[in-house]
Amino acid sequence: MMAIGVHSHAVSAHANNLDAASRDARREAMRIIGILREHGHEAYFAGGCVRDELLGLSPKDYDIATDASPDRVHELFPRAQAVGKAFGVMHVRARRGREKPPIVTEIATFRKDSVYSDKRRPDTVTFADAKEDALRRDFTINALFLDPTADATDVPAGGRVIDYVRGVADLRAGIVRAVGNAEARLAEDHLRALRAVRFAARFGFAIEAETAAAIRAHARELQGVSEERVGDELRRMFAHPKRSVAAALLEALGLAEAALGEQAPVASGAALLDLLPPTVATAVAMAAWALDRGGSARPAPVGEVAILADTIPGRWRRAMKLSNDETDRLRATLAGVVHLERDWEGAGIAARKRMAASDWFDDAMMLLAGRDGQRESAQALRPAIELVVEALRGSFGGLNPIPLITGEDLIREGLRPGPDFKRCLEAAYDAQLEGRATTREEALRVAMGGQ
Ligand code: ATP
Ligand code: MG
Repeated sequence: MMAIGVHSHAVSAHANNLDAASRDARREAMRIIGILREHGHEAYFAGGCVRDELLGLSPKDYDIATDASPDRVHELFPRAQAVGKAFGVMHVRARRGREKPPIVTEIATFRKDSVYSDKRRPDTVTFADAKEDALRRDFTINALFLDPTADATDVPAGGRVIDYVRGVADLRAGIVRAVGNAEARLAEDHLRALRAVRFAARFGFAIEAETAAAIRAHARELQGVSEERVGDELRRMFAHPKRSVAAALLEALGLAEAALGEQAPVASGAALLDLLPPTVATAVAMAAWALDRGGSARPAPVGEVAILADTIPGRWRRAMKLSNDETDRLRATLAGVVHLERDWEGAGIAARKRMAASDWFDDAMMLLAGRDGQRESAQALRPAIELVVEALRGSFGGLNPIPLITGEDLIREGLRPGPDFKRCLEAAYDAQLEGRATTREEALRVAMGGQ
């Protein structure tokens, strides 16, 4: 064993609390910093990775900020890819064999941004020093640098934090604060409002008062930001377990209304979003949000859910540039709730089996569990449906047995493909699901009888 204290700065790779992926990414970033420094440059870890290490979290990736120009970076790392040459951002990719994904490290030249006239991108980029680079960043907790080569242990994995903006104090106090003048920084780039909410929700931080006031004052201007960027931020918030905190902040700051173009909710009581398990598909979380926002009560009456299922997916698709898959899943989940709450009780065996075997079933059941939690009466729908599904699973070949007959069988019987065709097959499959047809012949008889 090594004597304790002698190599206090050389924290062992396993004692630094980073997960394996972060350790690999950090080692690669240190390698890059080593090369930059060997050639006389200043280079630090920057932004999110420093924040995460100080919080005791494992950074997803390590970004480097340096005084080396993009051309210089290219000389030192000939295979570096320019991703935003105008902004001085380069990517260095380290392959790690076939099994593991490559590590991509971002190297950005210190810069200051000039005025944002289109509300999206800085007009021009001027390369600058480390301090100016810190000052152009959005929030103090995101504006820290770390010199990992310094003989210090400001973070467990080693290194000295460089803090031009009192970011460490805000990190310790749990505060999201704009760098510099909040009003000006929020007016410059309205997406920062959503970023503030995302970081506050994710870390359980408070948004500092002036920053929050500036966000509120500029909330409506979010409409000038592209739907893609708004959608990306919202997606990330709703994919995260702290989604209900994010939603509450979005409402309180007027950002939900601005992003979606829809009025704030009036319903009170426990939010459905709050009752979801930590990991759910983003589209399912968005379905919960739609019910929280759109309903006149909690849970939203099923008649209202039906209307929301028809109207929300198309609107949100546009507002957040949702993909086809996301939009379909949002719609199917909402419609699924309606099916289960409105149609399940009166449905026969075949119809119930078809519902239980649908793509949307598990997603809708997730929302049903939350809606049960919102109901004052003790009558819970989800457990009742689950019990029945368990029984159906064991009856007549289960929920979705392979069909006894197909279209080809009908053609062989002389039937011509047409409008009746599908109906005949469905009748045969219903009979199979209900145990009225257990052989190919019986299924054919049902199908032809429906002719
Ligand atoms: P995450 O873990 O979510 O990726 P991050 O802090 O790394 O968090 P990024 O979006 O990857 O966030 O951006 C990297 C850094 O770039 C931020 O930490 C911040 O310093 C700066 N930054 C990003 N977006 C903006 C913006 N809109 N305005 C100012 N600075 C920004
Ligand atoms: Mg990042």
